[in-house]
Amino acid sequence: MKRTSHITELREIITMERSRGRKIALVPTMGYLHRGHLALVERAKQTGAFIVLSIFVNPLQFGPNEDYSRYPRDLERDSNLVKAAGVDALFHPTSEEMYPRPIVTYVEVGQLDTVLCGAMRPGHFRGVATVVIKLFNIVQPDLAFFGQKDYQQYLVIRRMVSDLNLPIEVCPVAIVREEDGLALSSRNVFLTSEQRQEAKVLSQSLNEAETCLRAGERSARVIEEQLRDRISRQCHGIIDYAEVRDAEDLSEVTIIERPVLIALAVKFGSTRLIDNKIMEVDPHV
Ligand code: AMP
Repeated sequence: MKRTSHITELREIITMERSRGRKIALVPTMGYLHRGHLALVERAKQTGAFIVLSIFVNPLQFGPNEDYSRYPRDLERDSNLVKAAGVDALFHPTSEEMYPRPIVTYVEVGQLDTVLCGAMRPGHFRGVATVVIKLFNIVQPDLAFFGQKDYQQYLVIRRMVSDLNLPIEVCPVAIVREEDGLALSSRNVFLTSEQRQEAKVLSQSLNEAETCLRAGERSARVIEEQLRDRISRQCHGIIDYAEVRDAEDLSEVTIIERPVLIALAVKFGSTRLIDNKIMEVDPHV
């Protein structure tokens, strides 16, 4: 596996592979890798492309009171993991490499960034879209892989690629979970054992919502009430949001008739967890 923190060196590596006819796949991450990230690598490997995995904790997407400085980092462990997983090149730039001077040019994906995590974290998706388009320009991938764990992020990137005519196929990958249902996240290491126990209520409440929908419930408000009720009864977490939204454009939903995103964000102390489920409705139920 090639490994570099320099843009020029990475570009040389990629140019060489491209000249051999290889397609290039990009897997952007913030590191402290787990099986969720490795699922993206697995999917990328299936395409036969040359896989570039980036690790960069992007300061631009963290708010002033968020966890940028304490975000977990372990480059050596990550490097061993991705090497074993079959990544071809690991790109781990410093902040100075990515932002040699204060950035004044941003990409903003309107509408999608005003709800859910966008409403709770002003500027977050602007930071995400901006660093992702920088990574796209550096790597010029044919394919890019994003987890549905961050479903809103996936929609933002998909829309940016479409609006700006970027010749990149954006590939979504299903959420990878612990045995008890908790979605894997680098931030899970911050949970106390009590919080870790309680955190399974996120996936449990999503499963309950799914059962309700399958049984014929079509009111988005009823589903949201049930989610809130269960979460507040079964854990000490503070709900940031628990919402049913249109799965394509995140618009508000009253009666569920099309695929919906059921999305949660819950704070356990200073650790904020998100989870979601996409649900299709059977028009005959
Ligand atoms: P992060 O390092 O948290 O920025 O995540 C990098 C990529 O991995 C994003 O596309 C995430 O959606 C994806 N990812 C993170 N956790 C999971 C998970 N549990 N299942 C699937 N994808 C994930």
